[in-house]
Amino acid sequence: MTDTAFLRLRGVVKKFHSFTALHGIDLDIREGEFFTIVGPSGSGKSTMIRLLVGMDDVTEGQIHLRDERIDQMPANLRPTCMVFQSLALFPHMSVGQNIEFPLKLRKEPPAQRRERVNELLDLLHLPRSYYDKRISQCSGGERQRIALARALAFDPEILFFDEPLSALDYRLRKTLEKELKDLHHRTGKTFVYITHSLEEAMVMSDRIAIMKDGRIEQIATADEIYRRPVSRFVAEFMGEVN
Ligand code: ADP
Ligand code: MG
Repeated sequence: MTDTAFLRLRGVVKKFHSFTALHGIDLDIREGEFFTIVGPSGSGKSTMIRLLVGMDDVTEGQIHLRDERIDQMPANLRPTCMVFQSLALFPHMSVGQNIEFPLKLRKEPPAQRRERVNELLDLLHLPRSYYDKRISQCSGGERQRIALARALAFDPEILFFDEPLSALDYRLRKTLEKELKDLHHRTGKTFVYITHSLEEAMVMSDRIAIMKDGRIEQIATADEIYRRPVSRFVAEFMGEVN
């Protein structure tokens, strides 16, 4: 992890007609960090991530990745990838075909594709024999891992996650929290993660941004937020963890 600004937001405003969802966000995310955006429902987390991946346009302000301005760049040209809940997998295809999809788009030769898929199956602790398994025969946790493997096959610089674990039961969530943290270490990629659960944020993140009503209240490590919350809102939000 380096200290140089990697992903940089300056004065980012997002309006939906007369409603302002983001009020001029300034934010620096470092290369290789696990950065989590946490806040109550409606605080603007998904809106922010949608602007970062290019699913929606900024109203004002700029987003830079390294020295490149990306807020005007089409989504498919940005070196970013969004991991949704497992819903985004192709149900009629096999596990292997799903993971291979980005490699086919890049026109990689079949033998190389197969090797890369095997590496990704290993990385996500899925048996190589799953190559031919149907998505419909996979459990919720397996689908989540397959979705992650496919996202990594795009070889993005940044992976974005919008509440990927919120629909899962407690035990599976705990298991996947650990796996995600481990995956972050092993890939060295920048992870930007959204959750409304501060507990989840505290377990996984290098730094956390706490959002309220389209503004960032505090950016700090879990420990700093715990010991020195900057506002009553943060302190109360913190209290919900215990
Ligand atoms: P979060 O992900 O933190 O729950 P969102 O980013 O989804 O919050 O939403 C932030 C605010 O912006 C909410 O008040 C929401 O209703 C509003 N909003 C989000 N998307 C749209 C949209 N497409 N049109 C109008 N309002 C929207
Ligand atoms: Mg959301």
